[in-house]
Formats: sequence, C-alpha cells, structure tokens
Amino acid sequence: MKNPPFIYHRPESLAEALALLAEFGDDAKILAGGQSLLPVMALRLGRPDHVVDIGRIPELLTLDAGPSGTTIGALVRHAEAERSAAIATHAPLVAAAAPHIGHRAIRTRGTLVGSVAHADPAAEMPAVCLALGATMVAASVGGTRLIDAADFHEGYLTTALEPNEILTEIRLPAWPDDAGGAVVEISRRHADYALVGLACIIEVGDGSITGAALAFFGADSTPVRVADAEAVLVGRPPAESAFAAAAEIVSARLDPPSDIHGTANYRKHIAGVLTRRGLAEAAATIGVTA
Ligand SMILES: Cc1cc2nc3c(=O)[nH]c(=O)nc-3n(C[C@H](O)[C@H](O)[C@H](O)COP(=O)(O)OP(=O)(O)OC[C@H]3O[C@@H](n4cnc5c(N)ncnc54)[C@H](O)[C@@H]3O)c2cc1C
Repeated sequence: MKNPPFIYHRPESLAEALALLAEFGDDAKILAGGQSLLPVMALRLGRPDHVVDIGRIPELLTLDAGPSGTTIGALVRHAEAERSAAIATHAPLVAAAAPHIGHRAIRTRGTLVGSVAHADPAAEMPAVCLALGATMVAASVGGTRLIDAADFHEGYLTTALEPNEILTEIRLPAWPDDAGGAVVEISRRHADYALVGLACIIEVGDGSITGAALAFFGADSTPVRVADAEAVLVGRPPAESAFAAAAEIVSARLDPPSDIHGTANYRKHIAGVLTRRGLAEAAATIGVTA
C-alpha cells in the first residue's frame, strides 16, 4: 500500500530538527528507522503532513556502554546493540531483548529509541527500560528534560513526549555485579510481537535474592511491573519455590486484555509460566541453578 502524501524534511543537526518540530508541532512526525511509522502511514492509521527524518543527525549516534552506565542515542539500531560486546557486558538485558525484536531486516533499520517512543505495549524495549529504571532524555527548542521510565509510557502508543520533542537518548544505570537478567516471551511465530513477555532482573548476594524487577509487556496498555511479586522474592534463596510464589502473584495481579490471539486468562497463565522461566534463566546467567 502506498503512503499518503507528505512533505519530507531531512535536517542535518539536532537544532534544525527541533526547529522543524517547533514549527509544525502536531502536523509533524519524526522518522527514525521507519519500521513502525511507515506501516502506520501506509495503513492510514496516521497521516502527518510533515515527516522529519532524523537519520542524518550525528549527535544522535551515541552508543556508550561502560561500568558506570549505558547511553543509547536515537539512531542506534537494534542490530548494532545486538552485536555490541559493550552492551552484552554492561547492559545484558538489552542484548537479551534484541533477538526477539522482529526479523534481522527490521532490526537492521529499526532503532531502540524509536521502539520506546512508538510505545507498542507488546514491544520489548519499553519493558527493558522499565525493569532497569532508565531515564529518557527529551529535547525541544526550549531545552532538555529527563523523564523516568516509570512515567514515560502513558497508554497504548502514547508517551509523555510532547509533539515538539525528540527523544534524543536513553540512559541506563550501571548493571550491578551480582545481577542476572533475562527476556522471555510467548509469540505465535518467531519475530511476531509477544502475546506476553517478561524482562526480568534478579540480584543475589550471600545465597539470597537481594532485589528483583519483573517488567511485563503485552500484558496491559503499557509495560507494567508487579511490585508484590518482586517483593516476595527478596530475602529468599533463588530457587524454584521462590519463583513459583512470584508467579502466583503475577497471575493474580495482571489484568491483560483479551483479543483474537488469546484470552485474558490465557495471558495471565502464561505470565506466570514466564515468571518462573525468566527468573530461572536470569539466575543461570550468574551461575545459580534453581
Ligand atoms: C514485521 C515487523 C515486526 C516487528 N516486530 C517487533 C517486535 O517483535 N518487537 C518490537 O519491539 N518491535 C517490533 N517491530 C517494530 C520495530 O522494532 C521498530 O523498529 C520500532 O518499533 C520503531 O523503531 P523505528 O526506528 O523503526 O521507528 P520509526 O518507525 O521511525 O518511528 C516509530 C514512532 O516513533 C516516533 N519516533 C521515532 N524516533 C523518535 C525519537 N527519537 N523521538 C521521538 N519520537 C520518535 C516516530 O515519530 C513514530 O511515531 C516490528 C516491525 C515490523 C515491521
């Protein structure tokens, strides 16, 4: 299907892009990798008059992963993160998510930041950011503001970004030495969006769980953490009994939608299964066998 007509802009600097957004506001859309925007336009679900292609802006290419944290610029592609040894070491949850995202061709064009800005509730990266407690950096002609991941996703395809803002980068905190992480999901076919998925982190010290994050995707209109289930893990040995206790709470607390792909009850059930599976995988990455 062909796209509707639009005016194409290709700014060469961030300042130029921000000026275009300030001028056109709601009538403009940012184009990053185009893997979500172009289908949306082709299906006439969105019809911006102006498309601002940020693909030539050098300031947005940053990928900096180290022991003190990770910064992912707006032009970093999923495939680049997937290949990066620094990401594998210092942001392993990002590395774990990447292979689940679409096909290789999609990951070659699509950006991590674009995925977070697009805010599909079944996407992996928004949940990874929520699990990690990421900070979003939003720029406009008026300056820059920081938004906590917990406040960023407001609803289906809806974020805290204003129409004149660009999400320039995502900052992830340092990955703790004693933490393991995993991303697990159920989808109908490989590379499909998840029916339900989980990005989880488990921290273990002196034989007990000292911290946990359970961020689900495909389970609500935004990614969602289940605080009670995280709390029940803390202080217990990283063993199947603890994971099963968390899973039971997850299945009780989540309130997922029903659609043609699965009922709410089915999603609640598989969220519990994924809790046990994800926590066991996360523990295994730090040498703990449940
Ligand atoms: C067949 C198919 C399967 C897919 N499967 C998955 C999957 O399993 N999991 C998954 O997570 N994704 C999946 N995707 C989507 C893919 O990950 C996209 O790359 C991603 O969602 C958007 O990234 P993009 O760079 O292509 O953004 P674009 O398509 O260019 O933009 C998407 C939206 O975000 C806005 N935007 C982009 N960048 C910024 C920015 N820096 N600041 C503010 N707004 C911005 C755009 O204006 C637009 O509204 C799939 C896509 C396809 C076509």
